[in-house]
Amino acid sequence: MSHRVTLIPGDGIGPEVTAAARLVLDAADVGIGWTERPAGSSALEAYGDLLPGETLDSIRHDRVALKGPITTPVGTGFRSINVALRHDLDLFAAVRPARSLPGVTTRHPSVDLVIVRENTEDLYQGIEYERGSAEAAALRETLATLGGFEVREDAGVTLKPISVSGTDRIVRFAFEYARANRRKKVTLGHKANVMRYSDGLFLRTAEQDAADYPDVEWEEIQIDHLSSRLTKRPADFDVLLLPNLYGDIISDLCAGLVGGLGLIPGANIGWEYAVFEPVHGSAPDIAGRGLANPIAMILSGAMMLRHVGERPAAENLEWAVDEVLRRGEVRTRDLGGTASTMEVAEAVAMLVTAWEAGPS
Ligand code: NAD
Repeated sequence: MSHRVTLIPGDGIGPEVTAAARLVLDAADVGIGWTERPAGSSALEAYGDLLPGETLDSIRHDRVALKGPITTPVGTGFRSINVALRHDLDLFAAVRPARSLPGVTTRHPSVDLVIVRENTEDLYQGIEYERGSAEAAALRETLATLGGFEVREDAGVTLKPISVSGTDRIVRFAFEYARANRRKKVTLGHKANVMRYSDGLFLRTAEQDAADYPDVEWEEIQIDHLSSRLTKRPADFDVLLLPNLYGDIISDLCAGLVGGLGLIPGANIGWEYAVFEPVHGSAPDIAGRGLANPIAMILSGAMMLRHVGERPAAENLEWAVDEVLRRGEVRTRDLGGTASTMEVAEAVAMLVTAWEAGPS
């Protein structure tokens, strides 16, 4: 085996789309040895833990994982497993390319964006105090003493830390990414006029770091204005550099621009480990019915191939996906077709193996 990869099927449509991606990646024949490990509800049943230590150990050992989505119960005591995973492995950069795909008709025909999202800080760091708890009361008192701030007694609180060191590494990552991938411009989204000490720090740190990359154009824009401009003229943008929460929201917006969540891949990258996963969630509304579009997961697999040094195979895989979409014969329901998840994977796998027809 040339590469060991931890495979986490996840919840909802996760097992379906990871099986589809595995079929295609095995067809690419670059010698991937899979270690399958649970996380999410399947892990809770088997191990009594949503994120078992064994799963984390496997990723630490293999250094690379391909992961399906995991359900996070809404508004309960459960901390998101995705947030925990990104924290525990220090996967500080999320990279999410959103490009117009052949044969997928959308309002804007030439979108080619990459979102670089800070993945560990901000409102998603998980520092939260429940309404009515002793900790929330202590925090309220401290805030009143420190700054005369009045927080209502019946408030729950989520904190938004953004550090210079955390910002510095994501800014440099984004500029290095732009350079390495021949991208021309980095656009930073923020709300520094309102959140002076968190978003303001993000902006000021980026301004300083950007001076080290004179060859890459950059601009800053308020996040609400960016949202509006993205929906009107997405072709104006190239690399979007965003703090955690905005990055999450804008990722889904960009998915909408290019045809839906079933199409956008993603990577979570740190200095030591990398976990590849689609932007979409576990889609409980369509789970278990073979309706999920596997393309986001398959393209996440292509990003993984590039990461482990299998660039020609990654290009062939992306070409195979484009070709299946261009032909338009085998598509899932979200793209107006009737094919199942596995039928799409099989169509892509057939082309992946047709090396002579691909670009490499
Ligand atoms: P979702 O992305 O799961 O679904 C939103 C909509 O998009 C649904 O209508 C769904 O059917 C559709 N959709 C998503 N992926 C699709 C695909 N591959 N093919 C066709 N249609 C697809 O978002 P949600 O419903 O807000 O979240 C469901 C669960 O997933 C929640 O528990 C959430 O916390 C979790 N989630 C996990 C991750 C992750 O593991 N990285 C990311 C986002 C959401």
